[in-house]
Amino acid sequence: MSECVFCSIVRGDAPSHPVCEDEFTLAFMDRFPLAPGHVLVIPKQHASNIFEIDPESLAAVSRITQQLAHGIRKAFDPDGVMVMQLNGAAAGQTVFHYHAHLIPRDQGSSLTLQPRVEAQDHALAGWASRLQAALD
Ligand code: ZN
Repeated sequence: MSECVFCSIVRGDAPSHPVCEDEFTLAFMDRFPLAPGHVLVIPKQHASNIFEIDPESLAAVSRITQQLAHGIRKAFDPDGVMVMQLNGAAAGQTVFHYHAHLIPRDQGSSLTLQPRVEAQDHALAGWASRLQAALD
């Protein structure tokens, strides 16, 4: 758990491009985005997956997920928004701290989860600003 990169981001020990946070949650841009505007929501309290997360944190993550979906639609105007949440390596989970992906999707764009290419910091910062401006 001391090696958990998302816990390091919550503590501010690892860099991220945050979008918003509250008592229970933090949202930040995915460093390996599937599309511009791909954002993650995590509980601040460590939980590996949906089997471990406490219901209060899960509800908070869901609340922010909906706000971010509205923000993505306003900021990026995609044809759709994919919300994806993976539990266990067999399901494709690679960071074992609960997280929900919000991914802008356009008609005809591939649903494959590859390739994952690390985005430039200036791109991530720009998308975070666009998303922040579109919230509330
Ligand atoms: Zn963690």
